[in-house]
Amino acid sequence: MAKKKEKGKGSKDSKRAGILNTQSLQFLETYINNAAPTGFETPGQQLWLDYIRPYVDTYMVDTYGSVVGVINPDAPYKVVVEAHADEIAWFVHYITGDGFIYLRRNGGSDHMIAPSKRVNIHTPKGIVKGVFGWPAIHTRTAEKEETPSMKNIFLEVGATSKDEVEKMGIHVGCVVTFDDEFAILNDRYYMGRALDNRVGGFMIAEVARLIKENKDKIPFGVYFTNSVQEEIGLRGAEMIAHRIKPDVAIVTDVCHDTQTPMMSKVVNGDLACGKGPVLSYGPAVQNNLLKHIIEVADKNKISIQRQAASRSTGTDTDAFAYSNAGVASALISLPLRYMHTTVEMVHKEDVENVILLIYHSLKAIKNNQDWRYIK
Ligand SMILES: [Zn+2]
Repeated sequence: MAKKKEKGKGSKDSKRAGILNTQSLQFLETYINNAAPTGFETPGQQLWLDYIRPYVDTYMVDTYGSVVGVINPDAPYKVVVEAHADEIAWFVHYITGDGFIYLRRNGGSDHMIAPSKRVNIHTPKGIVKGVFGWPAIHTRTAEKEETPSMKNIFLEVGATSKDEVEKMGIHVGCVVTFDDEFAILNDRYYMGRALDNRVGGFMIAEVARLIKENKDKIPFGVYFTNSVQEEIGLRGAEMIAHRIKPDVAIVTDVCHDTQTPMMSKVVNGDLACGKGPVLSYGPAVQNNLLKHIIEVADKNKISIQRQAASRSTGTDTDAFAYSNAGVASALISLPLRYMHTTVEMVHKEDVENVILLIYHSLKAIKNNQDWRYIK
């Protein structure tokens, strides 16, 4: 789908020449179509590593599956460019005697969107197809409609007993993902399941590609980090931050576009797909690093949007900031519509501008740059 429409150029309303090529878009599609549930990210991490490998000097992996592509591994000053690799999913939790399956969340999966969705159940015997069943409209009591909740949504795999379900390879603890595929809407939006935040993994890999292709000489170590387990509390980033011990971390994740129906700008701010990368203000964000990124955006004519984080950013930025003895960290977010649904949407132009903003911000960092407020 993506390949046919995409010619390696930006959308027609894009003011810049496209920086993504056919190969990168092919990778994006493959990467998004592959499931990477929290705690079970390895096949996706392998895809990501295979893609980034030609653009870095070496790589490292940790015990729980975070993967890091490294440029200049011997340099003492270390800059992390990070995204998270995992996507929300479900766990098989309880199989009834007559072969229905109840679930637990793995991350913030949305019960409201579940009924009538198709799913992939990841079993030791491979993928087993299933569906979220739901009683027909004709059979429900109109005055007392039940809304989907964790207590009533269930899967069906076409089996009539627990025994039959188990023979299909399904057991308590199997992970379940929605069955949905990457697409492009109106040549303007990438759309799919779990662009949150695998589009981030894609973007940081593209930064590595640009550095390699432009033959940029970077004097410090760059650690392209694709962390696992963000969706359940920034756990992968917590682990890898201690392993890398970076001096700086530039983190990218998605944030909410607030232009669609039923979204409150009072609650969520005024952010729009197509208007550029979003920079966060908040205690975890190091202000001198943030200033650096804003100056870079200005210089390179990349329009930015701003959001304020209360207490924490809720992204891996917090994990890096508060790791070790405190790491200068900042967050560059990509606005996204319909987060944690199967139809997440991001603007093509924003994707390119986030890549460019990370790329130029990284290049403008000086070796051993000291970010402290008072020297
Ligand atoms: Zn998420």
